[in-house]
Amino acid sequence: MANVKIMTDCIVVGGGLIGMLSARELKKSGMDVLLLEKGQMGKESSWAGGGILSPLHPWRYSDEVNELANEGHRLYPHVAQELHRESGVDPEYIRSGMLILNSAETEPAKAWANKWSMDLNVFESAAELQQIAPGLGELYDHGMWLPDVAQMRNPRLVKSARGSLQALGVQYEENAQVEKLNVENGRIKGVVANGKSYQADCVLVASGAWSGDLLGMFANPPKVEPVKGQMILLKGAPGLLKPMLLAENRYLIPRKDGRILCGSTIEHTGYDKSLSEDVKMSLLKTAVEVYPQLARLEIEHHWSGLRPGSPDGVPYIGPHEDISGLFVNAGHYRNGVILGIASARKVARQILEAS
Ligand SMILES: Cc1cc2nc3c(=O)[nH]c(=O)nc-3n(C[C@H](O)[C@H](O)[C@H](O)COP(=O)(O)OP(=O)(O)OC[C@H]3O[C@@H](n4cnc5c(N)ncnc54)[C@H](O)[C@@H]3O)c2cc1C
Repeated sequence: MANVKIMTDCIVVGGGLIGMLSARELKKSGMDVLLLEKGQMGKESSWAGGGILSPLHPWRYSDEVNELANEGHRLYPHVAQELHRESGVDPEYIRSGMLILNSAETEPAKAWANKWSMDLNVFESAAELQQIAPGLGELYDHGMWLPDVAQMRNPRLVKSARGSLQALGVQYEENAQVEKLNVENGRIKGVVANGKSYQADCVLVASGAWSGDLLGMFANPPKVEPVKGQMILLKGAPGLLKPMLLAENRYLIPRKDGRILCGSTIEHTGYDKSLSEDVKMSLLKTAVEVYPQLARLEIEHHWSGLRPGSPDGVPYIGPHEDISGLFVNAGHYRNGVILGIASARKVARQILEAS
């Protein structure tokens, strides 16, 4: 194959939400950006996720994660409108609130809410919970209500991000798998994808669960590993359930059109995305336990995605320690949507400062 050389200011490797939001920030700052995606943009974890705009039990996370989440919480109402305007696709930002069921973590939750200025109500009876979610399962008699927690609808969010890149004139190539990062004398020079050379003084690796593999050619690659999550979608009617419900690690997310997601599993099975009938039935059982009216709904869809898992869920954001011009934005684990916009702005600032 001819070794064509294509030049740009910055190459972003990976067209998930993190790569797309990062490319968008870089372009808005005046850089020429080329995004290379091995498949189709926004079809991996960023498509598969739930779109809850908060870590599930945020007080269990470090300040580093909460800072990014808090910035996301502040920025997303506006960013969702921008994405909608730029792309014509509504990512369906909805402040539906999250009801956390039967949690014993009231004290750390209160301290967290106080620190990050989030509203939190503690409920000590089933009647209080039922006021927020009438029809809730009878297992639940105490909990916490986070009215400010919002959601976006992943397939629409990634479509709007992609549309925004088109509107802003960001170049991208799909079916372009980056096989190699080109480095000379400790400096990044570009990448090779499908046998073609692309030159740039800056490369940003935002390749989700695959980021560790790509950076494995250097010492101390980030510890990012795929963590499978399976979800089901129930075909409900609008208004059947309004808030998001969280029962330990499983949750229900009602969408605007009445569809309800139930997720998710945590499976360390490498890059295997296969689905299990047992898991599907177990997710349905959880959904019905939490909200018995869902028993009459049909399962419309069952899928999985590979989260980019990292130790303690803290993403790697910043310059590579040995290779100048090489940057990373990866490892957002269970929180790539809520952390995405702040991570994109952070890495874009670092890239601009370094260039
Ligand atoms: C079931 C499930 C539920 C979730 N729920 C939530 C939630 O409610 N809230 C939340 O905030 N987060 C949630 N997440 C997590 C969130 O979806 C992820 O953290 C986020 O999508 C990661 O985005 P990413 O762009 O890093 O990865 P991805 O979306 O996986 O994108 C990485 C992209 O890089 C491409 N790529 C990889 N290697 C190469 C290469 N060599 N060359 C070119 N391209 C390459 C891939 O094809 C892929 O498109 C959930 C995830 C799952 C799976």
